[in-house]
Amino acid sequence: MTRFFLLRRGSYVGIHSSGFRDFLLKPELLRAIVDAGFEHPSQVQHECIPQAIMNADILCQGKAGMGKTAVFVLSTLQTLEPVEGETHVVVLCPTRELATQACEEFVRFSKYLPAVSVVALYGGVPVKTHRDLLATETPSVVVGTPGRIMQLLKEDRLKLGSCKAFVLDECDKMLNTDDMRAQVQNIFQKTPKSKQVLMFTATLSQENKELCKKFLRNPVEVCIDDETKLVLHGLQQHYVKLAENEKNRKLNDLLDSLEFNQVIIFTKSVSRCIQLNKLLNDCNFPSINVYGNMPQEERDKKFKLFRDFQARILVATDMFARGIDVERINVVINYDMPESSDTYLHRIGRAGRFGTKGLAITFVSSDEDVNVLNNVQERFLVNITELPEEIDAAAYM
Ligand code: ADP
Repeated sequence: MTRFFLLRRGSYVGIHSSGFRDFLLKPELLRAIVDAGFEHPSQVQHECIPQAIMNADILCQGKAGMGKTAVFVLSTLQTLEPVEGETHVVVLCPTRELATQACEEFVRFSKYLPAVSVVALYGGVPVKTHRDLLATETPSVVVGTPGRIMQLLKEDRLKLGSCKAFVLDECDKMLNTDDMRAQVQNIFQKTPKSKQVLMFTATLSQENKELCKKFLRNPVEVCIDDETKLVLHGLQQHYVKLAENEKNRKLNDLLDSLEFNQVIIFTKSVSRCIQLNKLLNDCNFPSINVYGNMPQEERDKKFKLFRDFQARILVATDMFARGIDVERINVVINYDMPESSDTYLHRIGRAGRFGTKGLAITFVSSDEDVNVLNNVQERFLVNITELPEEIDAAAYM
């Protein structure tokens, strides 16, 4: 039965009246869930966890920010019976930050399961670090990006011959990008035939669904066929029509007038991300930026600053459009229009996490931008209105 509860983290969200106890999870997991402050499972957790712990393959499409990570973390930890020298769970993510995030969730929920070890393996870190690490221990769970995992497999440092669960986070992204798909396929082939496969995303076109199903066996499909249900109700969405050369002035005004805990500003390219950040710094806004080909150490440092609330304004590329879970982000600004309605949905999902409130403002400066905006409105049946002169902070704080 679905009811509406007031969650600690935010406003009302449709969740199920059952508790995590009803899933009959290991007591060690239940304790960690209590420590994490999770009181009730979200809908996606309610629908997927009971099936996943029965070893079913799952293809899951769920709203951004509603706890898909905990679905695969809790269910794989539930079924995991650690064996010294064997890796049983492999999770692939499209970016390093998402791999880190998922790894942290594994660590958080396995705190009372001392036999479980988890490592994150991703590019940008010297490969020697990972070689040395794998020479001394065999983690029960490996979370990583496909390139680095592939490399370590090829070198025979990592062995997935005992893998029992294969998880693809942001599966549409991972199978849609040609070189990533090839790597995922390669890794998949290095795991035993008989294993559980779990896939997660917020956006799943029919075409991508078919692609995903090639990896799944009789999957339980938890999919949102009605895309209008993907809209986050705690999020206010507005647009501003303006010329390209008016964007900076407008952004300045918004950063001055909006009350934000943390804001993420999306640009369409690395060069614009760098330029815009510089410009904001020149105007005395203490912004930082992150983008894909930034040196790893700097990227980690910047991302950590933002996650630790030591920086409140982040200028980013679409590299950060998906999955990033920073609780205090309550405003997203699309300085540049995203290239597709999918990307729009992912970007704005950085605010309004787990039922909290938020505000998304999109700059519209060309006919193409108008097309994407219309497409978003038609597809998700959402009414994105012009940004009013004044906006009540209570609506998004
Ligand atoms: P998704 O992968 O669906 O985008 P996440 O897994 O990142 O969402 O979850 C979003 C946030 O909600 C995370 O900070 C997570 O810790 C929190 N969360 C997940 N499930 C619950 C729950 N049942 N109760 C409270 N908070 C939760």
